[in-house]
Amino acid sequence: MILEPYIYYKENQLMMEELKIEDIMKETGTPAYLYSKGSLLNQLKQLKEAFQNSNVLFCYSLKVCHNINIANVFVNEGCGIDIVSGGELYRALKAGADPKKIVYSGVAKTSKEIKEAIEADILMFNVESEQELMRINSIAASMNKKVSISLRINPGVDAKTHPYITTGMKENKFGIDCEMGLEIYKSAMQMENINICGIDLHIGSQLLDITPYGEAMKVVADYVRTLKSMNIPIKYVDIGGGIGIPYTADKSTPDLLEYARLITEPFKDLSEITFILEPGRFLTAQAGLLITEVQYIKDNSYGKRFVIVDTGMHHLIRPSLYQAYHEIIPVIKKEKQKNKVDVVGPICESSDFLAKDRLIEEAKQGDLLAVTDAGAYGMSMASHYNSHELPVEVLVSKDAYKIIKKRETYVDLLQGEL
Ligand code: PLP
Repeated sequence: MILEPYIYYKENQLMMEELKIEDIMKETGTPAYLYSKGSLLNQLKQLKEAFQNSNVLFCYSLKVCHNINIANVFVNEGCGIDIVSGGELYRALKAGADPKKIVYSGVAKTSKEIKEAIEADILMFNVESEQELMRINSIAASMNKKVSISLRINPGVDAKTHPYITTGMKENKFGIDCEMGLEIYKSAMQMENINICGIDLHIGSQLLDITPYGEAMKVVADYVRTLKSMNIPIKYVDIGGGIGIPYTADKSTPDLLEYARLITEPFKDLSEITFILEPGRFLTAQAGLLITEVQYIKDNSYGKRFVIVDTGMHHLIRPSLYQAYHEIIPVIKKEKQKNKVDVVGPICESSDFLAKDRLIEEAKQGDLLAVTDAGAYGMSMASHYNSHELPVEVLVSKDAYKIIKKRETYVDLLQGEL
């Protein structure tokens, strides 16, 4: 869905902030990811306002849109960064993040990655297994350092979202179950080079129904009290990300004040707690558009029409991966009749579609289309499959735009190949 006043139509022209998208495309070409800086800032502002009475550190979840220019927008507003790899640590530092505001999650941290994060002096590791804890302790010992950690605990709550993006259940690979967690906290207490400072969870992504947070936070608050009674100090409660956005008109943004209440209320008696939030999708999804040009219209004898475009699952995998819905709208509205079509890309897979059986305004070869809500899990999940160049990325702010990732060339495609 388009998000006024950052993305809207003016005299049938799709605008981002004060610029006509058609004009930007004349200079950058397609496919292109466009992001509205005003929208990024406004999303963050809403979250900050909802949590204004609490002690909170916002750590932007870099995985959702990893361009350092996007991360830098949030860093400049005081945010930290949630990372999940050595590559993301590198990006976070290049984006200007304060290492003391970087939290590191992920189930498979290698020794090299752990060493790099200790060298960078990050805020804390969100530890996902006992073996990882032992590895961090021994690397820290070899570097003569004491390293801060939290354990990622699974509260066993169903986030009621798509199974591929539910993470806090017993069958998920992430985190540690509550029972085992207590034992691992106890052994962490005995480790010389480990400083326990928190507890972490992330129950899933794209939550529009926020009641699971209420359930999860009650479990976690009780857990923190149990840890306290065992003399295990908890300073940070990192609740991960997960707040959803309305991809369709029949949905709406969760009530952020209620979200803040569900998170903080169970901790009323634990005033020493600082909450860490790792928002991703909520901050960037609606700010982003993927602009594409129609290459061909193809009808078959069974009455099916394909609108074939110059982007697809290699640039936005969400529809193929999770049957995700993204609205597709014309960059120049012509008030023509709508047709039911499949919008498909160039990739040699039948799963390469952006929309199926979708009513969209009649399009012809050369028309520009905008895929909406594409700012999260878009470019950062893109690939070079079939050797297509990645889209150019553009950051729009008021009446100016800046290319933040240049268009690739065929030479870029072979980079590193010997
Ligand atoms: N934190 C962790 C540990 C995650 O795994 C994710 C996404 O999967 C996020 C934060 C960001 O989630 P979202 O984009 O739903 O806010």
